[in-house]
Amino acid sequence: MRLNLARTLPRSAANGPGERFVLWVQGCPLACPGCWNPDTWAFERRDLRSVEDLAAVIVATEGIEGVTFTGGEPFAQARALTALAERVRTAGLSVFVFTGYDLDELSRPEHLALLAVTDVVVAGRYVESKRATGLAWRGSANQRVHFLSDRYGPADMNEVAEVEFHVDSDGTLTVTGFPDAELLAFAVDE
Ligand code: SF4
Repeated sequence: MRLNLARTLPRSAANGPGERFVLWVQGCPLACPGCWNPDTWAFERRDLRSVEDLAAVIVATEGIEGVTFTGGEPFAQARALTALAERVRTAGLSVFVFTGYDLDELSRPEHLALLAVTDVVVAGRYVESKRATGLAWRGSANQRVHFLSDRYGPADMNEVAEVEFHVDSDGTLTVTGFPDAELLAFAVDE
């Protein structure tokens, strides 16, 4: 079973609680105006990775407490992400998912299977007019944080990194998290 990814980041503190391995999946049908990652919308082949290989890389990453699925739309690849989540949870890691769907839209069997192995899901479209800073894991105020297991709770939202900068060995700058408009414009220009 394979996943189609846009990119990965082995360690981030701005995409859920603690340090996390982040996967941006490729493909999103929702096309929210103002989306920060429009390069992830197209359902085109990008970086195909086997679930088994990816799980091995994630589990071998030192110092992380979990994995985060974002995108793109994770529930468009629910079956493969469920298989990955099952593997990393077996190793004691937690699972955090950002989705553009509201929770009550996720009713298909493959959606429910992914939710069953998810600790926290942040759900809802990105709505530009409801954008605000300081929303803890959310880009716009309409989005909702759902704690699906007892591993985390609202107290984990108190000390959330808003934004992070990563510079790769080739000089590529990645801005992740929830930057304000000025910072976001800078990142897009870069
Ligand atoms: S659901 Fe997320 S990735 Fe998809 S268009 Fe909306 S903000 Fe962008």
